[in-house]
Amino acid sequence: MYQVIARKYRPQTFAELVGQEHVRATLENAIAQRRIAHGYIFSGQRGTGKTTVARILARCLNCVQGPTTAPCGVCASCKEIAAGSSVDVIEIDAASNRGINEMRELRENVRYRPARDRYKVFIIDEAHQITSEAFNALLKTLEEPPEWVIFVLCTTEAHKIPATISSRCQHFSFRSVEFEDVVRRMEWICQQEGVRADAESLAVLAQAGDGSVRDSLSALDQAIACCGQELKAEEVRALLGLFSLEILHQVTEALAASDSRKMLEIVAALEREGYNLQHFCRELARYFRNLLVAKIAGADSRLIAATGQERKRLAEISAGFSEQDLARYLQLALDLYGDLQRSTQIRLHTELGLLRMVEAGRLMPIEEALAQLGGGAPPAPERPKAKAGLKTGVPAAAPHASGSGAAQSPAQGTAQGTAQG
Ligand SMILES: [Zn+2]
Repeated sequence: MYQVIARKYRPQTFAELVGQEHVRATLENAIAQRRIAHGYIFSGQRGTGKTTVARILARCLNCVQGPTTAPCGVCASCKEIAAGSSVDVIEIDAASNRGINEMRELRENVRYRPARDRYKVFIIDEAHQITSEAFNALLKTLEEPPEWVIFVLCTTEAHKIPATISSRCQHFSFRSVEFEDVVRRMEWICQQEGVRADAESLAVLAQAGDGSVRDSLSALDQAIACCGQELKAEEVRALLGLFSLEILHQVTEALAASDSRKMLEIVAALEREGYNLQHFCRELARYFRNLLVAKIAGADSRLIAATGQERKRLAEISAGFSEQDLARYLQLALDLYGDLQRSTQIRLHTELGLLRMVEAGRLMPIEEALAQLGGGAPPAPERPKAKAGLKTGVPAAAPHASGSGAAQSPAQGTAQGTAQG
């Protein structure tokens, strides 16, 4: 039977877990010292392993050899928990079972000892969806929990869990998984599946998941279904509707050359190739964000998800712009993306947005010149020399206008927002 990759390779032990070392270490200690809490809250972005860890915890506690940090994997408990069929490990999707009646049933169930295993583990997914009456019912159980009961509340929105509940639980926040960890995991899975994949296509798939292992693995499934046993970056990009970096690089080239006509040609080419312009603008914003981060923190920063080759390119390109330029381009790209959400004239708005960027590039040197005339602006850090022969080039010593300096902070705030979201 065909099984999707995310399920087939779902980690069954802490050793197989991708990322979340802090969660793993604390839980392993708790198990080793037999200090098991009755309530846990696992919070974090989707696809970061909350339910997976809840199941691993259940296995550690209920394995015939347990409680142990290394469940055997062959006893009935281990096998049933992996298959989701254990009587004593109950998974509840709170999105569809959120009411008081379900919670009353649960309270009934809690009173009885486990059928076979050491603990009864209740894994409640999307726990923030539970109604307040139902939370009250749950609270009564958490106040005086039978010794055999363990609740694991998994949620993407921990702030919606009432304080009365969370104060009786141990809280673990799951981080979005590092780009390199996702790539390494996919490399290993491809080996197991006999799939050849170049580094760039794995990078593209990892980026598509945006910190969610599950989303990256779904994309990998899709790529294998479509491209077969050999994944190539170009095909994977096309499949996911992503843009080759070349198109994005063309935008920065047009900006560096202050070339409005080239911008229009880029939009025309995108339309001709049938690309979605809204996706393009989102990718463009992400691209400027990466250039800005490369400028501020260096292209090898962990804040950027990219292959070695892409990083080199980002470093080269960001060197041709100042931090202020890049922050402003990012702001304009985000504005454009926002405009497109409401637009009925997508192409015209895209053209206008890109022309505005060229315009902004032209204005910045003028502002700087004006500031120099006024003489009021404090000296700013040196602006890097633009590529030789470009119209936007200004003398390296030209100080910045106070105006462009002031525009910088909100744009940077947005940059960080994008990085996290
Ligand atoms: Zn076992």
